[in-house]
Amino acid sequence: MAIGYLNGKIISSSDPVLPIDERGHQFGDGVYEYIRVYNGRPFMMDEHMNRFFKSAEAIKLNLNHTPDEIKDITADLIGRSGLDDCDVYMQATRGIAPRNHLFPNVPASISMTVKPFRAMDETLRENGASVKLLPDERWQNCWIKTLNLLPNLLAKQEAFEAGAFEAVLVRDGVVTEGSSSNIFLVKEGVLITPPATKHILHGITRIAVLDIASELGISVDEREFAPEVILEADEVFLTSTGIEIVPVTSADETKIGTGKPGAVTEKIYEAFMKRV
Ligand code: PMP
Repeated sequence: MAIGYLNGKIISSSDPVLPIDERGHQFGDGVYEYIRVYNGRPFMMDEHMNRFFKSAEAIKLNLNHTPDEIKDITADLIGRSGLDDCDVYMQATRGIAPRNHLFPNVPASISMTVKPFRAMDETLRENGASVKLLPDERWQNCWIKTLNLLPNLLAKQEAFEAGAFEAVLVRDGVVTEGSSSNIFLVKEGVLITPPATKHILHGITRIAVLDIASELGISVDEREFAPEVILEADEVFLTSTGIEIVPVTSADETKIGTGKPGAVTEKIYEAFMKRV
């Protein structure tokens, strides 16, 4: 059963609970995490906590909890939900205070939901997805997982309306990431991905994939590349907590590689599924 949490209270995940003067609601003044739970266990929880606390610190938000406390709350909620395969969404905002750009002197607000896992269309994994290249119009600090996702939403919607699964973003002539995923290429057996600079979200699935590559003896090159390089790649794939690893077989309606999911992508996906 889906379940919610707000500042120490267990609530229904669909309860309307936030006053209008809430800073996440009014300003997007907060940070979030999205965690996949496999067989009752949150996957790479320490890495998610590390990123959550780093994001909060980056926006000068005191979470008033330790990572262990958040982990305990999460485990309790998962237990109460009775769900084995589920999604945990958590967000922290700068709290509830009359609308004013200056920071209020009130405690952070922490909310969570645990919901049944929303499975994606598995034919995408079998046949490969398409992407549309679009300008990266976000701010400079994309490594912070803030609630401000408007440029990501606009790009995803534009890609969707063009019939593509994901928008792949380009800033100053180089590919950064997807609107809600990281991107990897395979060229002559080498796994290439943009470096973890300020301009991308440091994906947890990205960390897992880089670790798997080193385990499998696949060479990795974390480097910047131009959008044309995607079209010349042997294989391309996207990673995120929700989609795990999805092969990309066309970009801007041009076929990539053989037009089918590649062998290296499949090998990495298999190794990933063993980990979860
Ligand atoms: N980049 C962006 C912009 C994202 O929103 C996400 C998904 N949260 C990712 C990358 C992938 O991150 P993760 O593997 O931690 O889900």
